[in-house]
Amino acid sequence: KSQTMQQEHLFKVLVIGDLGVGKTSIIKRYVHQIFSQHYRATIGVDFALKVLHWDSDTVIRLQLWDIAGQERYGNMTRVYYREAVGALVVFDVTRASTFDAVLKWKDDLDTKVTLSHGKPVPAVLLANKSDQVCSQQPRLDTFCRENGFVGWFETSAKENTNIEAAARCLVEHILTDE
Ligand code: GDP
Ligand code: MG
Repeated sequence: KSQTMQQEHLFKVLVIGDLGVGKTSIIKRYVHQIFSQHYRATIGVDFALKVLHWDSDTVIRLQLWDIAGQERYGNMTRVYYREAVGALVVFDVTRASTFDAVLKWKDDLDTKVTLSHGKPVPAVLLANKSDQVCSQQPRLDTFCRENGFVGWFETSAKENTNIEAAARCLVEHILTDE
């Protein structure tokens, strides 16, 4: 195919989960290849753009929406969710309460946005800070199947583990659900 046949997609992807689970760290790692112990909890919504040369015909611009400050309320406004086509739902493997909150976030997502044909937006579950636990995270296949996640990954923003794989999984589902 000629260059002019190249397809470009712009996908709005939400990164949600409780305060301190590593949402900002995951985005900074994925987009800027950096990690810091100290990200300010900036108030409001922040964006980062990741350009993926998906294949020879397809360029994908992932617009990653970070949230800050509002996580403590456990839900976001419809404006934030509008036109999102995918989500990364993050919890912290060292804090059980953040896993308990995962279903609340998934529910908030599903009640506030659906794809144009009415299907829920694909969501991938991220078990973050996996560098901090020696024992393996229990498998979450059944949990994901029962709760409508398209997949799950043990991630570490610190050690750059599985973040690209998780994003790739999400994009694959976004492309097939379109
Ligand atoms: P957010 O509130 O969800 O955006 O969380 P942050 O990205 O601000 O991260 C909260 C804290 O967890 C920060 O001190 C980060 O450095 C730390 N953190 C984030 N991801 C990881 C990780 O994968 N491993 C470890 N060990 N710490 C992490
Ligand atoms: Mg943050």
